[in-house]
Amino acid sequence: MNKKCLVCANSYNPQDSGSFFNFKFCSDECEQKAEIEAKSAETGVHMYMCISPFPIRFSNGTETGATEIVVEGSKWRIDGSLARGLNKFHLENLSGRVDEKITWLEVDEQALSRHFQKI
Ligand SMILES: [Zn+2]
Repeated sequence: MNKKCLVCANSYNPQDSGSFFNFKFCSDECEQKAEIEAKSAETGVHMYMCISPFPIRFSNGTETGATEIVVEGSKWRIDGSLARGLNKFHLENLSGRVDEKITWLEVDEQALSRHFQKI
């Protein structure tokens, strides 16, 4: 019987889930996201909204050189625990959409203050 993932809301077969809590989450990734959400709720979340479009360039694998725009109005959460060391601030996209192209990005102080506003 399929279950509905508490994080991404996808229907999945618990037997295929890599999560330790395979009746709650479709994958280990979703389990980790849920953990981070819980932690953020405890520590106070720093949320930002994009106030001016912000182009970023993908540098991973096949999408090398492709530019995507961080759209105005999109919401982000600062999460230092996920930092990959590319820039000072690590932002996680909050839309929760499965087809989201930019799920995270890292920016410096200047880009943060120019393109994002605390909400
Ligand atoms: Zn999931």
